[in-house]
Amino acid sequence: MAETRRCDDAAGCPAPCFGPSIARFTRSGGAGAGMRYVSTRGQAPVRDFAGVLLAGLAEDGGLYVPETWPAFTPSDWRALRGRPYPEVAARVMQPFVGGALPFATLRALCAEAYAGFGHAAVAPLVQLEPNLFALELFHGPTLAFKDMAMQVLGRLFDHVLAASDQRVTIVGATSGDTGSAAIAAFAGRARTDVVILHPEGRTSEVQRRQMTTVAAPNIGNIAVGGTFDDCQDLVKAMFADAPFRRALNLSAVNSINWARVAAQVPYYVAAALALGAPDREVAFAVPTGNFGNVLAAWVARRMGLPVARLVVGSNRNDILFRFLDANDMSVHSVAPSLSPSMDIQVSSNFERLLFELLDRDPAATSAAMLRFRAEGRMTVPDAAWHRARTLFHGFRLDDDGTVAEIRRLHAACGYLADPHSAVGIAAARARPCPAGAPMVAAATAHPAKFPDAMRRAIGAAPPLPPRLADLYERAEHYARAPAELAAIESLVRATVERKTV
Ligand SMILES: *Cc1c(COP(=O)(O)O)cnc(C)c1O
Repeated sequence: MAETRRCDDAAGCPAPCFGPSIARFTRSGGAGAGMRYVSTRGQAPVRDFAGVLLAGLAEDGGLYVPETWPAFTPSDWRALRGRPYPEVAARVMQPFVGGALPFATLRALCAEAYAGFGHAAVAPLVQLEPNLFALELFHGPTLAFKDMAMQVLGRLFDHVLAASDQRVTIVGATSGDTGSAAIAAFAGRARTDVVILHPEGRTSEVQRRQMTTVAAPNIGNIAVGGTFDDCQDLVKAMFADAPFRRALNLSAVNSINWARVAAQVPYYVAAALALGAPDREVAFAVPTGNFGNVLAAWVARRMGLPVARLVVGSNRNDILFRFLDANDMSVHSVAPSLSPSMDIQVSSNFERLLFELLDRDPAATSAAMLRFRAEGRMTVPDAAWHRARTLFHGFRLDDDGTVAEIRRLHAACGYLADPHSAVGIAAARARPCPAGAPMVAAATAHPAKFPDAMRRAIGAAPPLPPRLADLYERAEHYARAPAELAAIESLVRATVERKTV
């Protein structure tokens, strides 16, 4: 409907816009007004927030994006200064949630989601240098930034499923952090079963134990004899098995779920406000895998937050670096690194940025994605690539560089950065803003989550926080299966049926 709407308020539209549609949320949405979502490929039904929350991926293979972007004015931003994190989260998410939840419910839900975090500020800023800050996103139950969104998602699912009197089965594949965050967020919830596939022997022990030591009846873990890609293919195959999908009412919470992106926007807002926004620009550097976290920073900017620069940090799996550096978006094979959550070649959320870079043209987006899949190489028109480079900068760091950065930070200021965070901090230092805006690096995991890398860098592993101190003593529960669809489906069924006996 409004897909071709032009920017009706150029002055309020931060340049470069990357796309024509913008709506002031004050105009478009009071209570009850619903944000509508369209697919980046244009062939899936338009949905409301509850619909995209449960659907995850759109039926046409595309990703859901808001039909129009909400915009906050400088005084809207100022009104959030100094507010507790859960309130900032609720205010920033509200235009995306639309009529799905009353604001008071959303605020209460956010308060509950962040109540169990290990830091009173939820996402504290730590100053490392005069103009360099770490935004710590790892104080949630599983010690990685995935908790920031997943804790909200678990509660949103409950709410939306209760309203429509449904139950769903969430299936997912994980290389580590997503699975544990999902399990922590959904354990014991009334209307969801969660079954997570992980590649046997290929996650860290902390990551595996965070998944397998949760003994809730609605949680199932399967160690698959195969790689992460095998796990992902099995999840896709379950979704493609229509009778199975229908019988179990399958749903997904992987990083393409729009609600996860929406729940990641508020911490960029909170950090920017603390550093003087909207009266001062800030810049973010984000260690990146599936492009979900840095996309949320882009969304904050699209909503009017003054973000001067976004630095995309990669490890040796550097497709995003090569794209930003030389418009070379060609898939190489994935190589393991010290920052495993960034060992990705095809960043699924990039499609949302591509859609904006292509002026929200679903036919062009669809064609580019299909060619990318077929040829292993994406052709992005030069004009779109140049546009991306006005805001995004790429940075790449190999394992030796990552170890050196962890060591340097420890020596320089006693700061303990995990390998992912170290890539982000190094990215911020390497690509400072010419205008002098403060650089904020997303610190995405607690260093205790990656003890081997920490030992290699500084000779010792930091202890787990007290709430996880007995992780190595807890009993593990998981099934093992070969990478075969029939075996996996019967284990998923068994998890779902366990509670009905
Ligand atoms: C998931 C993850 C990332 C990558 O985030 P994306 O949103 O996939 O780009 C980085 N660091 C850690 C610790 C993660 O768990």
